[in-house]
Amino acid sequence: MRAPLRWLPREPDILSGRPGEFELITRYFKGLTTQADVELGVGDDAALLNISQLAEKHLVVASDALVAGVHFRPEADGRDIASRALCVNLSDMAAMGAVPRWFTLSLTLPAELANHDWLRRFSSGLAEVANRYDCALVGGDTTRGELNICITVIGEVESGAALRRTGARCGDQVYVTGTLGDGAAGLALLNAEFNAEGPARQRLLQRFYAPEPQLAAGRQLLGLASACIDISDGLVADLEHICNTGNLNAVIHAELLPVHPDLRELAAGLSRDWALSGGDDYQLCFCVPVNRKTQVDNLIKGGVLTATRIGEIVQRDDTWRDGRVRVLENGEPVNLQRSGYDHFGC
Ligand code: ADP
Ligand code: MG
Repeated sequence: MRAPLRWLPREPDILSGRPGEFELITRYFKGLTTQADVELGVGDDAALLNISQLAEKHLVVASDALVAGVHFRPEADGRDIASRALCVNLSDMAAMGAVPRWFTLSLTLPAELANHDWLRRFSSGLAEVANRYDCALVGGDTTRGELNICITVIGEVESGAALRRTGARCGDQVYVTGTLGDGAAGLALLNAEFNAEGPARQRLLQRFYAPEPQLAAGRQLLGLASACIDISDGLVADLEHICNTGNLNAVIHAELLPVHPDLRELAAGLSRDWALSGGDDYQLCFCVPVNRKTQVDNLIKGGVLTATRIGEIVQRDDTWRDGRVRVLENGEPVNLQRSGYDHFGC
């Protein structure tokens, strides 16, 4: 951080119980994770990473910022905010079929949150996810301002093997991992637009605050999927990105969408639209050429991969008025309210 912007006292502020900037970094971010390939982590001007094992690999780099009031409620628990911030970044690694290795954290924090209680919760949420996926925190920055968490993850993938959004062909089958609609339902719960109690409520909040990055699925799909994307903005919107890379359209069969039984029961009228365009699911949407379909179906039958076939890629047809992705339910067209989230769209 640059000197003129220093905001926290260097020494702990006994009266307010606020740690100084360097105490904050040392106490809450240094030693959060350990990993053999970190030569020098948090504490110097930059990190040193040992990449001697990566000769045959590509480095994979992804960055995602989470802004209070846009991506989470500002009053949310620090643990939840940290876990969501890291999970959504790891999801980008999953979508590339990569293995996450290291990450940096640029944290902008309002003064009222720079207290031990909030920081303890934030760093424990971060450590839990980082250690679960063996991804080391190697540096970052800490400044004062509106709560904003920007994480950059660095991972690895075998050279030439990464999954991309490009590569789908007409006739490919479209699949998604896990269940859809849970992220949107979790958000609706938090906004008090929908209600659920007990284990169903806990599951939905967990899916919103700790969306499980589909890293194992991404690895399984190397050499099998022709294209892949993680579902952050909504299935239809994200599948449209895959279609836009070629002269392609896609058809989704709504009756095939994997929706958790709790959600079907609690929100029968909403779950289909949440699954199609709600966003925040962080599942993978991927395409499989017909000649590899049996291999993928066998992984699913064997319980190695949790995924469902939901549609197919078709030839581009400019007469479609409803965009690149058409949704049918038992053969009848479904009208979508909106295709997905767009920060600058209407
Ligand atoms: P500089 O002044 O060189 O930018 P800083 O004082 O900002 O360095 O940071 C000191 C050390 O602490 C660096 O190693 C930096 O990567 C690390 N660091 C700062 N903030 C964070 C954070 N939020 N998470 C992890 N590491 C951090
Ligand atoms: Mg420096």
